[in-house]
Amino acid sequence: MNSAQRHEYLTALGLDAWVRRDQPAAALSSIRASTETSRELSTVTPLLAPVSPNTAREAGVDWPELRARVAACTRCALSATRTQTVFGVGNQQAEWLIVGEAPGAEEDRQGEPFVGRAGQLLNSMLRAIGLPREQVFIANVLKCRPPGNRDPAANESAECLPYLEQQIALLKPKIMLAVGRIAAQNLLRTDVTLGRLRQQVHRFGHSQVPLVVTYHPAYLLRTPGDKRKAWEDLKFAREVCANV
Ligand code: SF4
Repeated sequence: MNSAQRHEYLTALGLDAWVRRDQPAAALSSIRASTETSRELSTVTPLLAPVSPNTAREAGVDWPELRARVAACTRCALSATRTQTVFGVGNQQAEWLIVGEAPGAEEDRQGEPFVGRAGQLLNSMLRAIGLPREQVFIANVLKCRPPGNRDPAANESAECLPYLEQQIALLKPKIMLAVGRIAAQNLLRTDVTLGRLRQQVHRFGHSQVPLVVTYHPAYLLRTPGDKRKAWEDLKFAREVCANV
């Protein structure tokens, strides 16, 4: 990616204020250098066993069958209120798996995760580290929209997580990026705050896939002052992926 493109994506993240007008390339290099130094990648022990007790339910299922099972699923009450299931989208050979919480209203309408303004910001965040949306796989903990965008109930997450676990088994990603507190807490089975989960390497599931936590783009749209922290998280995740 050239400097102009990176500048464009950083601008979308609201980080252009950090670029000196007379030396944009030098300033961008210094942003990169601030996080690409020899900082040790911290690793933490899994907080709790992050595997659903129902994992075996979908084990061995291929992509088309898994998609069909999700589309027909009535395992929790969300099946009664959804417009359609939101299976996930992206490259089935992707190294990066992005996991959010659940579909919102627009995702429920379109059948695709992370669309609308939050989706556009996520795309910009990914492009800023050299990852077009087409190169990653994006999914949610829940495949159906909770009414009123409420938080997922514990039984809904427990019923739906085996689908994500099988997606992970098929994808074999090098890294997972959990976006937002709800996704992170559900994946890691913890109530630790997002602020304390950031900037650490967690491990998910039997495969022990490295998992990094960052803010949800919808939160960043409401709280642009935290975009710089999200940028640090993305660079951290990129370092982790490069060292897998
Ligand atoms: S949220 Fe998951 S478990 Fe519940 S009905 Fe939808 S696909 Fe099935």
